[in-house]
Amino acid sequence: MEPAGLEPEEIEPAREAEEPPGCPALPAEAPQDSPPAAAPPGEGALPSAPSREQERSRRGAGAQGSAGRAARGRARRASGRRSGGENARRPGVTVDSSKAKTSLEALKISLRQLRWKEFPFGRRLPCDIYWHGVSFHDNNIFSGQVNKFPGMMETVRKITLSRAMRIMQDLFPLEYNFYPRSWILPEELPLFVAEVRTMKDNNPSWKPTFIVKPDGGCQGDGIYLIKDPSDIRLTGSIQSRPAVVQEYICKPLLVDKLKFDIRLYVLLKSLEPLEIYIAKDGLSRFCTEPYQEPTLKNLHQVFMHLTNYSLNIHSGNFIHSDSVNTGSKRTFSSILCRLSSRGADVKKLWSDIISLVIKTIIALTPELKVYYQSDIPAGKPGPTCFQILGFDILLMKNLKPMLLEVNANPSMRIEHEQELSPGVFENVPSPVDEEVKVAVIRDTLRLVDPQKKKRKDAQCQNSEQAPEASEELPDAAPGAEAALPSLCLKQVFPKYAKQFSYLRLVDRVAALFIRFLGVKGTTKLGPTGFRTFIRNCKLSNSNFSMAAVDILYIDITRRWNSMGIDHKESGMCLQAFVEAFFCLAQKKYKSLPLHEQVASLIELCECRLAALHGKRLLWGCGLGQRHGALPATATAPRPRGHQVLRLQKPSQLRALMCRDRTGS
Ligand code: ADP
Repeated sequence: MEPAGLEPEEIEPAREAEEPPGCPALPAEAPQDSPPAAAPPGEGALPSAPSREQERSRRGAGAQGSAGRAARGRARRASGRRSGGENARRPGVTVDSSKAKTSLEALKISLRQLRWKEFPFGRRLPCDIYWHGVSFHDNNIFSGQVNKFPGMMETVRKITLSRAMRIMQDLFPLEYNFYPRSWILPEELPLFVAEVRTMKDNNPSWKPTFIVKPDGGCQGDGIYLIKDPSDIRLTGSIQSRPAVVQEYICKPLLVDKLKFDIRLYVLLKSLEPLEIYIAKDGLSRFCTEPYQEPTLKNLHQVFMHLTNYSLNIHSGNFIHSDSVNTGSKRTFSSILCRLSSRGADVKKLWSDIISLVIKTIIALTPELKVYYQSDIPAGKPGPTCFQILGFDILLMKNLKPMLLEVNANPSMRIEHEQELSPGVFENVPSPVDEEVKVAVIRDTLRLVDPQKKKRKDAQCQNSEQAPEASEELPDAAPGAEAALPSLCLKQVFPKYAKQFSYLRLVDRVAALFIRFLGVKGTTKLGPTGFRTFIRNCKLSNSNFSMAAVDILYIDITRRWNSMGIDHKESGMCLQAFVEAFFCLAQKKYKSLPLHEQVASLIELCECRLAALHGKRLLWGCGLGQRHGALPATATAPRPRGHQVLRLQKPSQLRALMCRDRTGS
């Protein structure tokens, strides 16, 4: 392992409160949502949920034919007898696994551990949970929960992610310096060339390397390194397949002289309100050639520079390992242990990782909310969503975590292919993958458990109605759950909401955007919507006429649509609206830093819209009721989570209108 130079970094507030995973020197954490230590009354005889070893032998038995089946039947009957009362009282959670694809095996193990009911071929009746391997749009689902958000795949594509991160870097450069400087090709090629030239002029000793990554690519597909902007391969493909070019991190932390990255699993449990969980353990994927800083001679050596499992598995040096702390794929906790034993500040590292995850999700939520309201508009029946994301993180030599990318569909495979003899392959279990991934899926299910929510609601209701009645409810920890380990997923948001909420400016811009979208199901703002936004927020004046508003709309929209990936709809996309909004903010509040300009304009808009809403309420009570009609924007459904103006008295409304007239 290379020595980790421990340079001081900005201290994040999450630091004191968080323990990094798997460090023996650190005190064990109290389980966050774990069942009570003692088994609830009447459940002492329940069989414990199957352990990893039992699961493996069960899968082995599956191949052994009728003897195995008979034994399983006996075990089922026995366990049915033992837990009959419990099961009769509480029907299991139903899960449709028919679209689970490569995550099926890990999902099956999780469901067995939880003793939930799996529907591998789907079900005519609705299920509680739908587990999709690829995207939200795999099915027509009108209720329950689905493990994908609409638009997630689009939102985390390399280009869209880079744009979202750029917006946040413009607003909060220091807070978002964990994402490498990136440019979008082909449209930003001239900018890339010019910026690199300027930086080189300013610092002649700077010898950068860049990594070019095709948009929508994965598993290292089409990626290459360059030393100079002129090396970009401008052959046909770059035009038809846009890409991101990014500063290459030349000094990664090495373990056993090898470069590695971290795959961390993050659960986005809810978008509104925002709820984020991080898995305590992840995977470290190793290169298979000793690392050297990039030179013209070694730029093309993928086994040295790219950590992708799918590439390195083809290297003769790849080591499949049964143990979690050796080989080409290891648990992240094993790396932390090694770092900790060498005196590295792993607590700080873990807290930096938590900050990185929260900040990245904050950058992604505005776009996700636009997709969400478009797919599941308020008032339309639809499922609620949650999603496991794969964060790819590279540690720099000084232990600073850098975000490489976010995967909407991280691989949940728990097997790998092994070549038994030339050309003959077999799927064999991968203990490292199983250890990490089954826990992530199982604990995600525990967190979204619909019955837990129902029980909680019922308990709340009962304790409100008759405090003594709540004691008769079934215990919050069902039998299977009592035998499970404590949750591997740790809540980080809203837990640390206070420290990070000031970063959620673009979320508020997105709320304004959604408010003026008008027609249900759209993701783009038409010219009328934009004009209404300007008019209702009173942003035009003698210096900024409505004609200038139209020109701004046309200019920005045309440019974004000419480089956009999504040509399905015409109009202004969220990111174009954000650009227009920043432009207006800069015009209005010239002397402030950008984030203050934007915050001031948001406040002004929100205040003026609240006042307008107040006026309309008054108007609705009187004039509107008499004529039986309200203007379209007043009747338009409010976006989910949008705060309702709760003003009781006309005097309060009038006060608000007066404030609005004075422009304060
Ligand atoms: P893909 O989706 O094709 O896997 P990634 O963005 O994850 O694309 O990049 C592939 C690999 O390239 C990463 O796993 C990492 O090893 C390496 N890599 C990507 N970006 C950088 C960077 N900016 N600096 C150093 N290495 C990088």
